Amino acid sequence: MLETISKHEGTPVSVGIKTQYDMAVEQFQRAADIMKLDPNIQEILRKPRRILTVNFPVRMDDGRILLYQGFRSQHNNALGPYKGGIRYHPNVTIDEVMALSMWMTWKCAVAGIPFGGGKGGVTVNPKSLSKTELERLSRTFFSMISEIVGPFRDIPAPDVYTDGQTMAWFMDEYSKREHLNPFAVVTGKPLIVGGSLGRDSATGRGVSISVEEAARHLKMNLKNSTCAIQGWGNCGSWAHKFIEETGAKIVAVSDSKGGAYRQSGLKYNEVNDFKQKTGSVLNLPGTQAVTNEELLEMDVDILIPAALEDVITADNAKKIRAKLVAEGANGPTAPEADDILFRNKVTVVPDILANSGGVSTSYLEWVQNLQHLYWSAEEVDHRLKTIMVNAFAEVWKTTQKHNVDMRTGAYIYAIGKVTDAMKIRGWV
Ligand code: NAD
Repeated sequence: MLETISKHEGTPVSVGIKTQYDMAVEQFQRAADIMKLDPNIQEILRKPRRILTVNFPVRMDDGRILLYQGFRSQHNNALGPYKGGIRYHPNVTIDEVMALSMWMTWKCAVAGIPFGGGKGGVTVNPKSLSKTELERLSRTFFSMISEIVGPFRDIPAPDVYTDGQTMAWFMDEYSKREHLNPFAVVTGKPLIVGGSLGRDSATGRGVSISVEEAARHLKMNLKNSTCAIQGWGNCGSWAHKFIEETGAKIVAVSDSKGGAYRQSGLKYNEVNDFKQKTGSVLNLPGTQAVTNEELLEMDVDILIPAALEDVITADNAKKIRAKLVAEGANGPTAPEADDILFRNKVTVVPDILANSGGVSTSYLEWVQNLQHLYWSAEEVDHRLKTIMVNAFAEVWKTTQKHNVDMRTGAYIYAIGKVTDAMKIRGWV
């Protein structure tokens, strides 16, 4: 018997609330207006080129069959094959996936890697499934989107609640129908099946590189700087490690349970040991507890939001005291907050630049897969640094030229590249 999945796993409907897609279009529109972008090109870029919705049955361990829904959105491929993660979450909607695919187009263009923007997701609570159920769901979903993905068409990667194991299942499923280099169909794979050294730490490393580059342009001395990090997960913890190496002092960190503050600084190793033991950074000995809201408003030089979207809003933007915000998370700052921060001379390195280290190293993984030649961690790190430093310089130049905030500068730079490619290919 076929059952539909319970309501809480269904697609939520938001009425009258600004969605992530609205936010993505609003950010695009700001840059498009400044560029006086041809309205016909605007029309094309506001929407993904293709969105595939799939409804597929998965057999549970107890024999029931549940129906799940998933999506793959392909926003633009003028610069190269679509690239972007696949997330598993109960709140995944077609609208969210569309927004994320558009952000990927700009992120890849900013990084200067030859990819377009894609994103996918399955509306599911993965924590409610056993490993065997997750494997069946992953294999069936990937097989259903296989006709539009491929090493030269669309290359997925991990995202929220998907990981190297999920990518290994995807790749293996794909290998059943395509024998020519199936490793290159997804990135973020385990090392043993074509993953890249340096991929785990890449997003945090990229955040740290963007902090260093911003400090250089702003003439900030990192050795005298303090930093707070919201979200001590993959992105936030690696950012801690690498920012600490620049000489800056991390004074506050947090996770979903709350935050820890110590004026004299928090060393990466000590936070890591404590988090490994207790599962949280909260109550680290010798620290003062702070809430996630308080952490954002602390008197520090650098703020790294590395957890959730929409945490810096019109309500708290005026209370941000950091001079530099580097967005590890995707979409942590609302458009209204961007205006307030710009007026207050707070430099915000936008997500599409600051956290592009992840997709840039995914690109390096794909290149290694295609040539069947694997690089050392040093080689990967060196290439990542080159990509990020160049991207930062280009975005900074565009930002100065138009006298805008860095997000708008990054959008102008990215949209310019995508539209140039569209024109020269004869699409417009
Ligand atoms: P993760 O799951 O490893 O870590 C997320 C962290 O945020 C965890 O420590 C969690 O406890 C914390 N958190 C959850 N809810 C919170 C809350 N309400 N307040 C404070 N902290 C909270 O995830 P991640 O991969 O580090 O991703 C974090 C952000 O970075 C996301 O926005 C993601 O899209 C973005 N990002 C990650 C990558 C990557 O390669 N990991 C690449 C690009 C962008």
